[in-house]
Amino acid sequence: MEYKQFVFNPIQENTYVVYDETREAVIIDAGNFNERENAALTDFISGKNLIVKAVLCTHCHWDHIFGLDWVAQQYKPEIYCHAEDLPWIENFSHICMSYGFGERKAPYPTNFITDSQTIKFGNTVLTVLHTPGHSAGGVCFYCETDNVLFSGDTLFFSSIGRADLPGGSEPQLISSIRDKLLALPDSTAVLPGHGLQTSIGFERINNPYLQ
Ligand SMILES: [Zn+2]
Ligand SMILES: [Zn+2]
Repeated sequence: MEYKQFVFNPIQENTYVVYDETREAVIIDAGNFNERENAALTDFISGKNLIVKAVLCTHCHWDHIFGLDWVAQQYKPEIYCHAEDLPWIENFSHICMSYGFGERKAPYPTNFITDSQTIKFGNTVLTVLHTPGHSAGGVCFYCETDNVLFSGDTLFFSSIGRADLPGGSEPQLISSIRDKLLALPDSTAVLPGHGLQTSIGFERINNPYLQ
């Protein structure tokens, strides 16, 4: 499995294109916001000759779905999210207007994911870890064979996601991280929804929220 990271939109969100030798790909969090970012995404995908099978949403906060509608129209992928984050999709247009992001819409997901479900594309298998706390429907995607975790806004380098938005809960977030993420091997690479890459081992020792 290989991946390409993009940093998109005014909130500096990490969007990942994940693919393998079969050329099948998924986009984890379509945060692309404008023409330039749309072009960066399509240039990479067409340059590698990738076939976009699905968009996987770690959660449905606005900064992670700005580009969902555009990607849906461009590639007609399946769209996976956890049902408990549906209110964020349903309120997306309203949120964008009230925060000054203009007139935008988000498509309805095609598939709802649940904890420990697997998602397959090409020769790659991702396991869903439901990690509520940052949002009620927040999930991480774990690739066991490559030992890589896409952690969304649940776990960051030396930090954790905010828990003050509707559906958030800090105690729940900490338990999600302790029970689901710290159960992974120390060598697991953590690719978060914002900021720098880290590892489970580094966060176990250094993350101030997990001591
Ligand atoms: Zn978020
Ligand atoms: Zn975010």
